[in-house]
Amino acid sequence: MMNYEGVIGLEVHAELVTHSKMFCSCAVVMSDGEPPNSHVCPICTGMPGMLPVINRRAVELTIMTGLALNCTIEVFNIFARKNYFYPDLPKGYQISQYEYPLCRNGWLEIETAQGKRQIGIRRVPLEEDTGKNIHQGNVSLIDFNRSGVPLMEIVSEPDLRTAEEVKAYGEKLRAILRYLRVNTGDMEKGVIRFEPNISLRAVGTTVFGTRTELKNLNSFRALERGTAYELARQAKVLDEGGRVVQETRGWDENRGVTVPQRSKEEAEDYRYFPEPDLPPLLVERAWVEEIRAQLPELPDAKHERFVKAYGLSADDAGLLVADRAVADYFEATVKALGGQPPKAVCNWLTGELFRYLNETQTAIEQVKIAPQQLAELIALVEAGAINLNTGKRVFAEMFKSGAAAKAIVEAQGLAQISDTGAIEVIVAKVLDTNPNEVEKYLGGKETVLGFLVGQAMKESRGKAKPATVQEIMKRQLAERKQ
Ligand code: ADP
Ligand code: MG
Ligand code: ZN
Repeated sequence: MMNYEGVIGLEVHAELVTHSKMFCSCAVVMSDGEPPNSHVCPICTGMPGMLPVINRRAVELTIMTGLALNCTIEVFNIFARKNYFYPDLPKGYQISQYEYPLCRNGWLEIETAQGKRQIGIRRVPLEEDTGKNIHQGNVSLIDFNRSGVPLMEIVSEPDLRTAEEVKAYGEKLRAILRYLRVNTGDMEKGVIRFEPNISLRAVGTTVFGTRTELKNLNSFRALERGTAYELARQAKVLDEGGRVVQETRGWDENRGVTVPQRSKEEAEDYRYFPEPDLPPLLVERAWVEEIRAQLPELPDAKHERFVKAYGLSADDAGLLVADRAVADYFEATVKALGGQPPKAVCNWLTGELFRYLNETQTAIEQVKIAPQQLAELIALVEAGAINLNTGKRVFAEMFKSGAAAKAIVEAQGLAQISDTGAIEVIVAKVLDTNPNEVEKYLGGKETVLGFLVGQAMKESRGKAKPATVQEIMKRQLAERKQ
């Protein structure tokens, strides 16, 4: 058997978050939120004689993406017609960019168990999305609400080598687009779509093998599994003396296999030519610099800063910066606490908050607890006014109702008992009602202390400070020995 190396390039389609479509003023809407064909006009349904107009915001967001991906931004841009027939493409062509994409020659850094690597970005053309076919029994329907939605294509160099790298690249790219707020990253809604081009070559050679392209991957799991399957399938074909056929293949999630879809079109099949209804798009340098100045801090830079400025571990920082809204929430909470240990805030976010977000399928933007409110809760726990377990109960209540921590603590009488006199009474009572355990303890079996402290905590309904209970209990036990 030969020793092969994977050669993989990823094409990513990402819808841009704009108010209106790419070439008309129709609103961009989510397909599940609006009736079909409720946001259409002669332009996005391809009526004869319609004239497209370029959406400035879409160009701006694509330039922003190109800058974040270290690309060169082209001054001279031409839109092109990519001709093909398909029911969801009413014009019979898609307005795209071919020889003159807005951005090219960038790179993106990924990290896997094998370390860090830079993956080249070949080009980022701007184009328009198609409509959606809906198949119901033996009828097919078309919804043109998506037709003409601004769409970026981010095409990598064939620099990826393994399925793990492909997944890391996809996740990193999605994170960057979400940071830039140019795309929401909702894979299940199809606003970002991944298509890996996959081939093999013998280790040590430089010539590329024949590639296949995988379509319709709608999760990172599918992206990774589909790529791994395809690499293995091609290795088997080559080992058996066969040849890989250049084709488009689909991923069958249930069977865990890729299946042939159609043989791949060549560029000439699309008969690209410059879009005659649009003038060349000239991008002024000053505009590019304005956009560059507005770039937010990106995930890698934020990660480095979180480790340095807050003394967090790389893993903790990674959990926080994966989502810009979470990172912002973290910083706002730390700021509100003014000097509290950031690690405690991190634990509350990655522990309680993430758990409840997950259980209730809530986005952090929808959380009722403002960072300032969480800071108040953390301050109560840190100051010993309530213990950690009570704090978690209060958090659950805050998450549900959005009420302030102090109000919940007062209303439910949860404040920690700081009166040591009261704790003395509770401890004495527990020792009186558990003579056997007391005897065992005094006989040298110190492990029963945990049980006795637990009983006292229960007696206090969780409101005593465990450390204080333990201290008082040890003293009272010692006194009983005499
Ligand atoms: P097309 O115009 O047919 O989509 P491109 O040459 O622009 O082709 O490449 C599309 C994607 O395929 C890019 O991500 C590129 O890196 C990748 N690619 C090109 N050749 C190969 C190959 N032999 N093996 C794997 N990926 C490839
Ligand atoms: Mg392609
Ligand atoms: Zn329209």
